[in-house]
Formats: sequence, structure tokens, C-alpha cells
Amino acid sequence: MDNCIFCKIIAGELPGKVVYEDPMVVAVEDIDPQAPHHYLIFPRKHLPTTLDLTEGDDQLVGHVFRVAAKLARDHGFAERGFRVVNNCNEGAGQSVWHIHFHLLGGRDLSWPPG
Ligand code: AMP
Ligand code: ZN
Repeated sequence: MDNCIFCKIIAGELPGKVVYEDPMVVAVEDIDPQAPHHYLIFPRKHLPTTLDLTEGDDQLVGHVFRVAAKLARDHGFAERGFRVVNNCNEGAGQSVWHIHFHLLGGRDLSWPPG
């Protein structure tokens, strides 16, 4: 999609610190990290929000969680604990309109989130 920063990172038109990629998803370091480990996992396919997911995306969403678990293990914060977060629409804090999942770890995470 034109003017989508995550599509541009996928296309190599914008820099991104890629920590994982496969045919379905890409994961990058968040540019404004909120934890010692803060990665964004997003599909190569452009979908604006969670509300745009269809039944055909079920495997994709499951895959995202498996990638999150792999990254948490590979980067050594799985055992301590981590969080996978998807913000949907402005009221929940979404600011990039290409669906993505935050993976946060490396510190204690309070609950409930703000
Ligand atoms: P959200 O607010 O849930 O839509 O999350 C968007 C996230 O994208 C924020 O945590 C931003 O810090 C992050 N972000 C924005 N631009 C970039 C970029 N060019 N590279 C990496 N992360 C970015
Ligand atoms: Zn996009």
C-alpha cells in the first residue's frame, strides 16, 4: 500500500532493524521501544486493523504468536515473561494502519495496561 511505513520496510524502501522474516511475516525492532525488548511483528500482506482479518487469516495470526514465542526464546526473555499486544483503532492507541503485534519483554509488565 502506498504510504504505509510497514509496507515500505517490507519493500526495503525504508530502513528497519529486521530481527526475523519469513514468507508470511516480518519482525523489526520498534523505533521507540517501551521495554528492553520491543519488537513489532507484522504480516507481509497489508491489512489495516484486526477488524480486517478474515477466516483465511487464521493461520497467519497463529503464526504471529509462534514467531513471538521464538523471538522471546531466542532473545532470552521467554522465561521471565513477555506480552503480545495488538492495538486496534485510535482509542486503543493504534498509530500505524498496517496490522502489527507488539512483543514486549525484558522487564516486569504491569497490569492492567493504560
Ligand atoms: P501502534 O501505536 O500500536 O500502531 O504501534 C506502532 C508502533 O510503530 C509504535 O510503537 C512506533 O514506535 C512504531 N514505529 C513507527 N514507525 C516505525 C519505524 N519506522 N520503524 C519501527 N517502528 C516504528
Ligand atoms: Zn502496509
